[in-house]
Amino acid sequence: MQSKWINQAALKIQQSILKHEADIECLDREIGDGDHYINMKRGCEAISKMAEELEGFNAPDALNKIGMKLLSTIGGASGPLFASFFMGMSKHLKSVETAGNLDIALAFEAGVHAIMQRGKAQAGEKTMLDVLIPVAENFKQQAKNGQSANEIADALKLVASQGLESTRNMLATKGRASGLGERAIGHLDAGAKSCQVMVHAVCDLIL
Ligand code: ADP
Ligand code: MG
Ligand code: MG
Repeated sequence: MQSKWINQAALKIQQSILKHEADIECLDREIGDGDHYINMKRGCEAISKMAEELEGFNAPDALNKIGMKLLSTIGGASGPLFASFFMGMSKHLKSVETAGNLDIALAFEAGVHAIMQRGKAQAGEKTMLDVLIPVAENFKQQAKNGQSANEIADALKLVASQGLESTRNMLATKGRASGLGERAIGHLDAGAKSCQVMVHAVCDLIL
């Protein structure tokens, strides 16, 4: 992975988040406080402004810079969680010599574990993790099986969409929606939606 590619992925993510404004905004309005889209947009803008600077770093350092920037720009519950993801990924990549598909899958998994630690949450709590945990698991499995980048990207889009859909009938036990009890049932989680959008954006870059 090169920082040039990270910049391309960041741009694609930004475009996709902007394209899905209506969905993301309305979900956090239904069972959150309505600011998730604005938070995501602010984070994407901050990263796009760093594009030139990031090209001067290797991938782990660029990911760490992204994490630190998100920590100070996104805010809310999701800011520190996304920041932990990038810092966790960076830390893992620093410890490997090459970065083949399996290394990247394991780095992604390390990022997801960092979110779990930071937010003290697991799968099934109606959060972004309901997209990210199955994506990490499937990514690792496919990389271990020697699937090509195209095959991996294609399958991960489906896994991300299934993960998002799985949040619909969950009770929320973390985040703002956790105070709503049964009223949260029937609604998708906003953070899960943005993660599904981001996974699709990055996979489309590969396909
Ligand atoms: P806030 O809830 O502070 O307004 P955002 O609206 O930006 O922050 O983000 C809300 C999203 O963050 C939720 O939809 C959920 O996916 C995610 N989230 C909240 N708490 C946690 C947690 N402890 N672990 C994982 N994800 C969480
Ligand atoms: Mg919110
Ligand atoms: Mg908020």
